[in-house]
Amino acid sequence: MAPPSNSSNSPVSSAPPVRPVTVKDPIAFRAACDEARRSGATVGFVPTMGALHSGHLALVAEAKRKASFIVVSIFVNPTQFGPNEDFVHYPRDFVGDLQKLTDQGVDLVFAPEPSAMYPEGEQTRVKVHRLTDPLCGAFRPGHFEGVTTIVAKLFALSGPAVVVFGKKDYQQLAVLRKMVRDLFFPIDLIGHPIVREADGLAMSSRNVYLSADERARALGLSRGLRAAWSAFEGGERRTETLRALALREVHAVADRIDYVDVVDPVDLMPPGERIDGGGAGAKALVAIACHIGKTRLIDNVVLGEDPVPGAAVTS
Ligand code: AMP
Repeated sequence: MAPPSNSSNSPVSSAPPVRPVTVKDPIAFRAACDEARRSGATVGFVPTMGALHSGHLALVAEAKRKASFIVVSIFVNPTQFGPNEDFVHYPRDFVGDLQKLTDQGVDLVFAPEPSAMYPEGEQTRVKVHRLTDPLCGAFRPGHFEGVTTIVAKLFALSGPAVVVFGKKDYQQLAVLRKMVRDLFFPIDLIGHPIVREADGLAMSSRNVYLSADERARALGLSRGLRAAWSAFEGGERRTETLRALALREVHAVADRIDYVDVVDPVDLMPPGERIDGGGAGAKALVAIACHIGKTRLIDNVVLGEDPVPGAAVTS
């Protein structure tokens, strides 16, 4: 395995960007990360399932601010998809992804086959318990166990100092934080804010599934979050009132709603009747998962912490 051939710290020049080294073999991946560390680099890692958009690229940019050798994995992980979910049809665009990562100055891309990450005879799963029960955990049995298992494998191979995940998948980030803490991974886990389209829709690889009508209806999610956000900013602290404001907008557009919940942003549990319990400094996560056509969409905002989610409220 040749050492990685380019560095994200190379001086600006008029030469075209250098393609990242791409490896498919887990052991070659580990060797490349080891080699980078030996030469004094800090490994920054962004795990993805590919079909990259500006949200993913913002995570890469954040990793570049924190580390000197930038690694991106592209792996549609079969164990986090349920039997009736979209594993087979999940969008894939390896050539386009590689071009975007080249333009971003990524150093190393890891794109294994499922059989390499789950070789014959493997029997190990990583499970975080209580945090995986509510929200998406209740609707996607086994999903988070698939996520924590693959991410633990990727961490074991790459040994990153810094990893960036998106707050778009809020529960995933919370679960992975718990895993990193519980398993003593020496990793600085960074949560990046949700990147949205100009009209407020949270970017997602799955947005390509949406027809024009569905794309318009999908704006109901961020509209619902803004309704709750505006009420909170205006002093509303009643949990059910905030939830109802978000739910009304989602109900108007969704074909099926998995949940519209207001929960504590740390333990993801119901906060009680009021989100401040009568005190100041209240925070609450408003989280949405619903289906528009055949596409499952998620979105969220942390009241008391996040800026307004997307386009300004016009009414
Ligand atoms: P995925 O490829 O969907 O598994 O996502 C890979 C990473 O990108 C995860 O950490 C996601 O939370 C993050 N991500 C996806 N969409 C966005 C977005 N719109 N804004 C910020 N992060 C995102």
